[in-house]
Amino acid sequence: MAGKEAKVDNLVDWLRDAHAMEQQAESMLKAQSSRLEHYPELKARIDQHIEETLGQQKLLDECLARLNTSPSTIKDIGGKLMAFSQGASGMFVSDEVVKGAMAGYVFEHMEIASYTVLIAAAKAVGDLETQRACEQILPQEEAMADWLKAHLPELTQAYLTRDANPDMAAKR
Ligand code: MG
Ligand code: FE
Repeated sequence: MAGKEAKVDNLVDWLRDAHAMEQQAESMLKAQSSRLEHYPELKARIDQHIEETLGQQKLLDECLARLNTSPSTIKDIGGKLMAFSQGASGMFVSDEVVKGAMAGYVFEHMEIASYTVLIAAAKAVGDLETQRACEQILPQEEAMADWLKAHLPELTQAYLTRDANPDMAAKR
């Protein structure tokens, strides 16, 4: 009995971590989207992922509510501040669009790892609804990571072309 309780505690902790991560994702993606001017394809894909991210937050909220807990406010606020400082630091680099896409690719992989862990943890305690929620979220993170990977070369090329033209803004 004690063993099973311990497992549920871990699941709850990781769900709260994931919730904070999605708050951070929302702040980061919104900051990136609002600043992008010359890369409409990237902006559109980020906007799509903002919608997905809001849906993910809702699914995680429902999982936490079923387990009689709420998101960890302190972690959520910490995540938002971190996302803000990341967004703000991007403003000072001349290759903001490239750095932002690279950071996004890394972030998506952190999310992929998190949901892979959550699926295993939900399975371990037999929480089928949490398992299904995370199995619904995971492919969205994989698709975003795949899209960024596939588009990094042409994004880099577009940046370099704009950067080489003195009449064009390349940064974002
Ligand atoms: Mg996400
Ligand atoms: Fe994501």
